[in-house]
Amino acid sequence: MPELFSDKALSVAKNCVDCSICVKQCRFLQKNGSPRRLAELLLQEPDSDIAYHCSLCRLCTAVCPKDVDPAGLFMAQRCQVVNHNKGSYDQHRPLLSYEKRGSSRIFSWYGLPDGCDTIFFPGCALPGSRPQRVLDVIQQLQNEIPNLGVILDCCTKPSHDLGRLESFQTMFSGLQAILKKYAIKKVLVACPNCFRMFSEYGEVEVQTIYEMLKVPSPSLLQQEVTVHDPCGVRFETKVHQAVRCLIQGTGCTIREMKHHGTKTLCCGEGGAVGYLDKDMAQGWTEMRKKEAGEQQVITYCAGCSHYLGRSMTTCHLLDLLFEPDKTLAGKVKVARAPMTYWHRFRLKQKIAAILAPHTALCRQDIEP
Ligand code: SF4
Ligand code: SF4
Repeated sequence: MPELFSDKALSVAKNCVDCSICVKQCRFLQKNGSPRRLAELLLQEPDSDIAYHCSLCRLCTAVCPKDVDPAGLFMAQRCQVVNHNKGSYDQHRPLLSYEKRGSSRIFSWYGLPDGCDTIFFPGCALPGSRPQRVLDVIQQLQNEIPNLGVILDCCTKPSHDLGRLESFQTMFSGLQAILKKYAIKKVLVACPNCFRMFSEYGEVEVQTIYEMLKVPSPSLLQQEVTVHDPCGVRFETKVHQAVRCLIQGTGCTIREMKHHGTKTLCCGEGGAVGYLDKDMAQGWTEMRKKEAGEQQVITYCAGCSHYLGRSMTTCHLLDLLFEPDKTLAGKVKVARAPMTYWHRFRLKQKIAAILAPHTALCRQDIEP
């Protein structure tokens, strides 16, 4: 769990030398001051709403030569605000409802074949926007793991990032208890945010599907593309490399943007900033757009793909892998709400039809 706010703030105030390296990279710090200045300010005003304007993207932490963790401070401050019964904004309600639906009786689904010890956890956004891709991935993974299980549920990162740790802990530990009950040892994820939650808080091995998938067919177009690495896997260099291998395997060549890999930029959606501060969130997207130029952007987070896709040509790596030519020609179908909910509902039956004989339950049937 995030360190206590006061410990974090004192550590940043003591160790930040005000070198401005992180400030030069970050719009939020440019507007509000260096981590040291903000730590001192927050120690005076611990209930300030300022941390809700930080994307929690961890670029500052990645570039700091003194191992200071400003992102950790802003996360801890959000938790502090919630502990003081503040931080409850009407603007966040749609996000929290979205999260709640993900674990509901209607949308959660646990398909667990006999002897299954590895499950695919596609998250919330991918099943809604690209249900066929979820089926494609399952079918390819089954070549290596015949008794693969599938869990449709929410990793509850929205509550985590909003500082609602009690809700997060209740939901995530429920999920964890189910994995333990069914002796699941490994979770394969498609979403970088799910990766982060399972790797930081889970008790089982977690790996992204991008480290396991193979290229089904190369592209005829052999286009030059650029890659947007999502913040959730900022420090996962193995994932960055695996993604680039897959992209090159399709026949595309890669031109890297200035900010990539561990130094990637937020797409604008991070930390739910856009719900309170649209300009700050949009500013991150604009920075991404400037670096991408006219290049086709490939990413591997359905959330980033949606957010960036409003301002530039962006596609999901899974679309590129399974329908390369249609994807590069901008002809691949991606669903938007409310159709996403219908897809998520229908997907349960479609997955059930291709899994090995299994027990199918919703979360509420099995939660201890
Ligand atoms: S986490 Fe991202 S938005 Fe927040 S201060 Fe660091 S670089 Fe800036
Ligand atoms: S890079 Fe590190 S030391 Fe420099 S201003 Fe940022 S937090 Fe402080």
